[in-house]
Amino acid sequence: MPVLAQFQAGVGSGVITPDLGKHGPVYIAGFSQNRRATGVHDDLYARCMALQLVRRPLVLCGVDSIGLFLDDVKKIRERLGERVVVSSTHDHEAPDTLGLWGPDRATTGIQEAYNEFVIERTVQAAREAIRNLKPARIKLAKTADAELDTFIHDTRPPVRHDSELVLMLAEEVNGNPIGVLVNWANHPETLGSKNTLITSDYAGFLRARLEELAGGTAVFINGAVGGMQSPLGAKLEQPENSFERANHIGRRVAELGAAALRGAPVAAVDQITFREKTIQVPVANVNFQLAGKANLFAGRKNMGTENVMTSVVGYIRLSNGEGPVLEIATIPGEMYPELSVGGIERYSGADFPDAPLEPPIKQQMKAPFRMLFGLANDEMGYIIPKAEWDQTAPWLKDATKRWYGEVNSPGPEAAPMINNAFADLIKEK
Ligand SMILES: [Zn+2]
Repeated sequence: MPVLAQFQAGVGSGVITPDLGKHGPVYIAGFSQNRRATGVHDDLYARCMALQLVRRPLVLCGVDSIGLFLDDVKKIRERLGERVVVSSTHDHEAPDTLGLWGPDRATTGIQEAYNEFVIERTVQAAREAIRNLKPARIKLAKTADAELDTFIHDTRPPVRHDSELVLMLAEEVNGNPIGVLVNWANHPETLGSKNTLITSDYAGFLRARLEELAGGTAVFINGAVGGMQSPLGAKLEQPENSFERANHIGRRVAELGAAALRGAPVAAVDQITFREKTIQVPVANVNFQLAGKANLFAGRKNMGTENVMTSVVGYIRLSNGEGPVLEIATIPGEMYPELSVGGIERYSGADFPDAPLEPPIKQQMKAPFRMLFGLANDEMGYIIPKAEWDQTAPWLKDATKRWYGEVNSPGPEAAPMINNAFADLIKEK
């Protein structure tokens, strides 16, 4: 009888709440410039789950941040010296780690001491997850409950959500919970543009409630949030821009997830696959070029004289003799949901009406459970189907003004390059 490698899992967690004195002034990211933090409502975290078969861990981290550029993620990878995926939750109520929301349009909002703090704490959380590895088993669950869609307002056609909630519970072989990794897609920006208190937005409420219901440490990883997917404008009883609304969304997502996990069977895993591919995306966006020239990214995201952005796409698969049980795409930005679940539309006014439709990420997968990690290892902005790209008038669907999106995207080649890179990764033997 061959002895199968024992599957192991472990979790680690580190607080990355800024010290408003030491890291100040702290510019809150995500809406407009010069939104200075005046206090802390709840802690920000870097949380990691490590998985291992045969002494080579793979660590999956979710970080309460607007985004981390590949330059910063590379530092985490070098210091850790192990395989790690770092996904930012895209928290719009957290410090500016990208540089775009400083005191004015010409000045970076990055405080180097804070980025360094996030890097170091994420490394520590990942190390803790590895140290905590112990014999484990996993249970997978998913739900596409209609309530999940009510938390998302999509501001641009086509109205598509990648709102399926997918969870991986790791537990000891005696059933004691270790942690839950939860993947769902929505902008953590419930508190809106006026809030000046640091908060993880709905993510913290989601994790806390999930820990009450499922036990262990909860790791939240955001999904395909482009297009864009927001609690702002969602038709809910709780008032806009309130902690009450963030709490409601987080709690309900956790409760739906915990209900899906109840009775989930153990999924045997005897192979963990992780592959990545580097991509070179031409940056057509003049604003990005100017931001680079003005050094808003503070030495990061060097696009060179050719205006090319280097990034990375990844593929993770957990499988057993019968086939894949969980597949994960790691996507370096904010993907439009139709690029994940399908439904790209050809509208009048599109700049590239004949562009081939990209193969949707989740449709390329075969496993019963499929995750998409957004803002994974990088944040390049919106990833828009080339056929829906609309930089020049006439506007899509004969709109009277420009749609929102292209202004925060590297360009029309991002989507084809990423989805085709993923197609290559998933085909590799
Ligand atoms: Zn966004």
